[in-house]
Amino acid sequence: MKTMKYNHVSLTSVLALLLCLYTFHLSAEDQVSPASIAGQMAKHGVTESVGCVTPTICALMGLPTTDVCEVEPLAKVLEIAQAKLDGKPVQKALIFCPDAIGKVQFEHWPDDFAPLVKEVDYLMTGTNVLPSVTPVCFSTIFTGASPAVHGIQKYEKPALTVETLFDVCAKAGLKAAIVAENDSSIDKVFRKRPIWYFSTPGPADAFEMCKFILNNYDNFDLIVCYDGSYDSVMHGTGVWDERAHQAARDSIHRYLELIRLTDEVWKGYNRVVVFAPDHGSHDSQEGKGGHGSDSPEDSIVNHGWRLGAAQN
Ligand SMILES: [Zn+2]
Repeated sequence: MKTMKYNHVSLTSVLALLLCLYTFHLSAEDQVSPASIAGQMAKHGVTESVGCVTPTICALMGLPTTDVCEVEPLAKVLEIAQAKLDGKPVQKALIFCPDAIGKVQFEHWPDDFAPLVKEVDYLMTGTNVLPSVTPVCFSTIFTGASPAVHGIQKYEKPALTVETLFDVCAKAGLKAAIVAENDSSIDKVFRKRPIWYFSTPGPADAFEMCKFILNNYDNFDLIVCYDGSYDSVMHGTGVWDERAHQAARDSIHRYLELIRLTDEVWKGYNRVVVFAPDHGSHDSQEGKGGHGSDSPEDSIVNHGWRLGAAQN
């Protein structure tokens, strides 16, 4: 009798435990991490993300996306490419990465951004991932994966171990280059890959080096040019200070100049030139800019996509 009672209690406990585990499994599966690509899109009510850069570039160039990619290519960009490039693939891609320029900067300085908005075929408004700091966001931009998947979940700069856009390009026999300031996030987290690294003393030098490469070498298929000007100034001056404003203007002019230059040196190729910042920024205290939060200022960015058709 004693044994039977024991068995009964034991069976009930086991059933309860199984039910608990099942419920936990279901809720864990249903729960979207607030830091993830999907979590940030849901929080801000948008359907596009900075994570769309990698699958969109891959789709445009006829490559498979990374094996960790969580998002679809930007449908609008593919639609424009279909019409503008007559359904043919993109052969050359340049991704210009100005740090810390969010949608809020576009809205605050509309006259400065107007020439950029006019020049691009599509201006995406999307979210990034959390924390909204440089290595975390650019790792999502160049993998299509959330921080928990690509592995950088805080401000740190180890070389990523997951598949990136650069690995996909190298595997396909394409030649990729990263041009970035020494020891910046982009200079460090995509190392250890069979691609070209151009590491420069400052942001202006990275831009000059990018132009030098475009003017002298025709054989790069993908070039990433990092521009940390605005970020480095606004952290010290506040985001709306005139010195920060000038740095933002410099980044806009650099992007427009890269469009003009690629129109010239890559005119024989179908091409895409992307304006792809990582996060926005806000004044964290008097005279100091910052970012890292899930606020709209830090989280929502505009990406400009500009396609060019080969002229033979
Ligand atoms: Zn940044």
